[in-house]
Amino acid sequence: MKFSDLGLSAEIQRAIAEQGYDTPTPIQQQAIPVVLAGRDLMACAQTGTGKTAGFTLPILKLLQGKRARPRQPRVLVLTPTRELAMQVEESVRTYGKHLPTTSLAVFGGVGMNPQVQALARGVDILVATPGRLMDHMQQKTVDLSAVEILVLDEADRMLDMGFIRDIRKILAVMPKQKQSLLFSATFSDDIRELAQSFLHNPESVEVARRNTAAESVTQRVIHVDREQKRDLLVHLFQTHAWHQVLVFTRTKYGADALARKLDKAGIRAAALHGDKSQGARVRALNDFKDGKLTALVATDIAARGLDIDALPHVINFELPNMPEDYVHRIGRTGRAGMEGEALSLVCADERAYLRDIEKLIKRDLEKLTLPGFEPTVTTEVPPPKRGGGGQNAPRQGQQQPKQKQAQRSGGSGQPQSANRGRRQGGGKPQGGEQGTSAAKPGHRSGQRHH
Ligand code: AMP
Repeated sequence: MKFSDLGLSAEIQRAIAEQGYDTPTPIQQQAIPVVLAGRDLMACAQTGTGKTAGFTLPILKLLQGKRARPRQPRVLVLTPTRELAMQVEESVRTYGKHLPTTSLAVFGGVGMNPQVQALARGVDILVATPGRLMDHMQQKTVDLSAVEILVLDEADRMLDMGFIRDIRKILAVMPKQKQSLLFSATFSDDIRELAQSFLHNPESVEVARRNTAAESVTQRVIHVDREQKRDLLVHLFQTHAWHQVLVFTRTKYGADALARKLDKAGIRAAALHGDKSQGARVRALNDFKDGKLTALVATDIAARGLDIDALPHVINFELPNMPEDYVHRIGRTGRAGMEGEALSLVCADERAYLRDIEKLIKRDLEKLTLPGFEPTVTTEVPPPKRGGGGQNAPRQGQQQPKQKQAQRSGGSGQPQSANRGRRQGGGKPQGGEQGTSAAKPGHRSGQRHH
């Protein structure tokens, strides 16, 4: 199948050709005809499948057929994160560059005024994060009464981030009569319930999950003690000619600390997370894309939906406690037929997470140890407490197993090799990261952000 078979206009096809795409991806082949037919859509597709063009292209075509642009947005795309909002809006501009269609992204972390002014001038396609859109609704600086098409992008992540109430309030102010499209990487009961509440007789489309389909990603695990992870990571950078590596940590604080450590070791690195200013996040992402940074250290939420072409390496400095997040993380590499490598540094108290991941992806990952970094704790120890706070939750309890071990070995106060680093914090459990004794007072690592 070719793009010319899909009923898109000449202007849109020209923009696609200028991007160098000739064949629609599976999600595009399935979704585009459904959207063009005016049907509601429930699509199971992850980032990296080409889903953004899957809804953007037919939406541009649908708008093209109609005259007289009103001041109010005719299309609303809701995304969970600022980065994704920016990327979707950039796609709208790319694919719509030969059309008069206007678009705008609104998200938090930047001033309201420029957004207010742009909304007052009028836009066709509004891409927004729920929190900031609610701000505009409250201030009556946005009018959603003329929305003809609604897209919920990465709906599962929006629910994970606690946006369900906002989404319901936003749904309530839009016309009942509209076309609605829902994209989600997973279909939990919550997603199905949400879908049922606003989709009318939707067509369902699904493309293979990347974890089962993408054999182009080599996935490996290195067993290592928690306290050695940073040195191991530096060693890996020093012994490989890596030029672009996305590193995942579980906490924002951990991301900052690790980026600093890498930087000190001469590896150009920056952290990307929700506590960074919008400017800093954009700068870090652009520097990474342009090759000015070797490593980008990110939390799950900040990295969600990042579109970085041909990313060769993803490193899980810590495993996520939700196995689905692992799949999202490694979905950043091995795109579009490229070879990719995903490496996970796993310590004793993360082995239960590893088992959950292997169960989800239905395969055993290759496990290695590296000379000089062999783990001293080789048996599985219980993981930190699960749930209640998501990816940024403090990892309370993570110190406990080792504490016990220290007691067993006499509790002399002399750190054993397996306990190296643990004592830096005076033995107190810390919110978040290993060996990072200076956990800031008042730092709320359980905070959600978007
Ligand atoms: P997405 O899943 O929307 O984040 O898209 C993933 C990547 O695939 C983006 O870099 C797109 O620019 C790219 N892409 C989208 N459609 C196509 C296509 N038909 N052929 C090749 N690449 C594509």
